[in-house]
Amino acid sequence: MTADVAVRDDRALLVELEGGRWIDEFAEIRLRAAELRVRAAQAGDEEAVRRCDMLVADVLLREGHLGPGGHSAHQTQEWAEKHGRPYVEARAHRVLANFYRLLGDFPEALVHGVQGVAKLPPEAAPAVRGRHLIMLACTLDDIGSFDEGESRYREVLRIAAEIGDDGLALRALNNMTFNAYEAGDEPAASVLAARMREVAARGRALTAKELDTIARVELMSGRYTTLEATLAGVLDGTVLDADGDGAAECLLTLAEARRLSDRPAAAQVALDRAVEVCERSGLARARAQVRREQAALFAAAGRYKDAYEEQLRYQDSLSTLQSTQREARARAMQAIFEANEARQATEQFREMAHRDALTGLYNRRYVDEQLPKILARGDTLSVAILDLDHFKQINDTLSHATGDAVLQQLGRLLQDRTTGPAVAARLGGEEFLLILPGLDAPAAALHCEHVRRVIHDFPWATITGVLPVTSSVGVTTAAGGTTARALLAAADHNLYVAKRTGRDRVVA
Ligand code: GH3
Ligand code: MG
Ligand code: MG
Repeated sequence: MTADVAVRDDRALLVELEGGRWIDEFAEIRLRAAELRVRAAQAGDEEAVRRCDMLVADVLLREGHLGPGGHSAHQTQEWAEKHGRPYVEARAHRVLANFYRLLGDFPEALVHGVQGVAKLPPEAAPAVRGRHLIMLACTLDDIGSFDEGESRYREVLRIAAEIGDDGLALRALNNMTFNAYEAGDEPAASVLAARMREVAARGRALTAKELDTIARVELMSGRYTTLEATLAGVLDGTVLDADGDGAAECLLTLAEARRLSDRPAAAQVALDRAVEVCERSGLARARAQVRREQAALFAAAGRYKDAYEEQLRYQDSLSTLQSTQREARARAMQAIFEANEARQATEQFREMAHRDALTGLYNRRYVDEQLPKILARGDTLSVAILDLDHFKQINDTLSHATGDAVLQQLGRLLQDRTTGPAVAARLGGEEFLLILPGLDAPAAALHCEHVRRVIHDFPWATITGVLPVTSSVGVTTAAGGTTARALLAAADHNLYVAKRTGRDRVVA
């Protein structure tokens, strides 16, 4: 296989993963994303690296690791925005939408849900667009805008039909069915559940959560026998269930159906299994729901004292759950907040590394980094090196501290006369550089002459007494193809001429 083919295959696989392949098989996604990420990093393809990170972030959130998942998505969103990568940004927004949903911040989730669709470029794969539309629809459902959600689900169904993606269609149908069930709309829920079965009949197996949605609708219509058949696969463990949550919900639905159809012993069997699943997978929320169902089952058998005590335990575990969730929420927010602070600190350090401590002007390192870049633009550019005259005398006859005060004042004078794209830097000692983009030779000479006179005319007496402070300036203008080093050497030569011909002057 040639390198080109390998790269093409990696790109195709990445899009497939983003479009929902192996969507409920977390281990598979992790493995594939990790492999793709290594090769993308080797190829220096940062965009692909970030896309792999978003696949993993999505899994992290679905596993309940809110801090790491949210942090990664925040960073990627910022990176993508800064570097103008709308596709990656849309991917990050989609993950962020889920992050805020899980935190229970539904308005913020909606903002990201909207961006996740809005930023997606028109050429994005239809399956990916479908996934983003589903996330948007979920955030709309969360705030109670079911009609708006519904119109997105319908768009997803159109896309799914067009590209023949049954998995995508089932995700939309599952949510639509659940919404109809929650709204108590039995006829609509039944029609949707039947559509889920039709799609599944084409070969895509239903997951535990999808089966539970169908079973709930059957419970609603009192079709208990059908419900038992629907959930049979969950009981014998042949149904795919990503996080264990789905199975627990199915067992709860089963217990409720059996209780309502006067089969308390069978209901107890289902509940006992639900307890097992919850404890094995650490499902706190489902465990609380099991307690509520157990209380109802006790009550149905006339065991009111047991029912009352179980109800108390239910309420107890519910409030524990809420405080645990609040803590998890706070921790997740803190993880992101700290990451932002660290980034700001890094920027501060970077800025500090480019500044001269005494004058606050840019330093030699900054000049070495920036001047070649500015030159490379090929626009009109002049530079000037400015050196104080007989500065040693100030140090020697007054003090080093006085010399420092002069340098600081000079820094202020230069900074005040540096506007727009111009840069003032301290090269070292009492030697300064002015970078003057846009100024040709005559304009630069005029500007430097002005600066020289400002220094000459400044009331230095308050600092240096009778000693004057003047400067000599060497100016030069870039010709095509000049290097930074040659440019500075030319300016330095003119400075040397200015010194030799009497100081306090500009030589261009
Ligand atoms: P010329 O007109 O030929 O430039 O004479 P000059 O005395 O200015 O030149 P020279 O390069 O001989 O002396 C520069 C002095 O600047 C030497 C050094 O002690 C002093 N100097 C360099 N850095 C600093 C600083 O940060 N603070 C102070 N106070 N003095 C400094
Ligand atoms: Mg000097
Ligand atoms: Mg000097």
